Amino acid sequence: MHQPWMRALECIEYLQEGINSMQSADRSQWYEECVLCPHRCRVNRTQGEIGFCGQSSESRIARAALHFWEEPELSGVYDSADGDADDDNGRGSGTVFFTGCNLRCIYCQNHAISRDRLSGSRSEGASPGGDLDTDAAGDIGRIDRVGRNVDEEELADIFLDLQRQGARNINLVTAFMHMPHVLNALDIAKANGLSIPIVYNSSGYESLELLKAMEGYIDIYLPDLKYVSEDLAAELSHAPDYPRVAKAAIAEMVRQTKTIVRHLVLPGHVRESKRVLDYLYETYAELLGSGSCYAESLQEKNPHENSDPHRLQISIMSQYTPVAAALHALSGRKDFRPPEKGDGAPRNAHPELDRRITKREYDRVVDHAIALGITNAYIQGRSVAKESFIPPF
Ligand code: SF4
Repeated sequence: MHQPWMRALECIEYLQEGINSMQSADRSQWYEECVLCPHRCRVNRTQGEIGFCGQSSESRIARAALHFWEEPELSGVYDSADGDADDDNGRGSGTVFFTGCNLRCIYCQNHAISRDRLSGSRSEGASPGGDLDTDAAGDIGRIDRVGRNVDEEELADIFLDLQRQGARNINLVTAFMHMPHVLNALDIAKANGLSIPIVYNSSGYESLELLKAMEGYIDIYLPDLKYVSEDLAAELSHAPDYPRVAKAAIAEMVRQTKTIVRHLVLPGHVRESKRVLDYLYETYAELLGSGSCYAESLQEKNPHENSDPHRLQISIMSQYTPVAAALHALSGRKDFRPPEKGDGAPRNAHPELDRRITKREYDRVVDHAIALGITNAYIQGRSVAKESFIPPF
């Protein structure tokens, strides 16, 4: 058991080490003793060593395309008449999905790409930082490789091509593992005319050192805040330190620039959603209580009616989709199969996640936000809870 003052000293040491490790102007060196995320594996990814994320020192993407289902100010307005975003408001968010992840959420909505990892076991010494239980989680649900490697020039071309297609922004999804290359690619693209905003779309499980190294590159942070309860974070994402890490990361993001904190309401976990809102409001009341509530579905709101002056917003999301394959692969039980009534088959440990949320569950969370005084929030219509939110990877 740590004494509080010992924890403080460890935090100072942690920050100093991290800052030093990312001060090299040659960003490729950041892969050599990798501390790009809170796992702090310290593996040399340029030499084929594998950390928790399983990614090499080459950046790897699964999809780059215009995406219409982000918050309205990011995607533009979806026009159901022609199945496309309104040209006047831009033609979607220029979304680049990177492969791999540093969490192991059992309900992962992007499991088709998040489990991408090199084959082979983790390198000796690739033990994670914090209190993460990676022995239990590290190899769960591993799949064959997906996506493709891209070098910095190609990545810069992808950004520029998305801009040419009319993207309102470049939306980097789960990019932390590849940020040395991504930052270099942004430099190249900006030198060649990239001018649209850069969005950093994140689980919230980020290192402060990397965020500080990214300052000035990111125009809008888009982090999740999945839980504030350590027990639930351990149970559902194998990361008991997620609340501590994500809270610190969000504070740094808000310090730097505009931030939209996303919270995905999970079926059967309304109480946790209320606790997340309580934390955000108690911490950022001044930023969250002064705006107009976006009480329409994402498709219906015209972002240009509310050019956004707000530094912090919450996006309360109803779009949870049960992904049977993810629950199957990630339940931690190799013999798991979907239950048939009374057959005695091994069950998913969290059967509540095997359905969408109900209208009543979502309404209870939204009512709680309103009761707190949160007005600066995006609220989704229930009609958005459908499979189409998960892109075809
Ligand atoms: S999980 Fe990956 S990105 Fe994070 S520290 Fe380990 S090797 Fe680096």
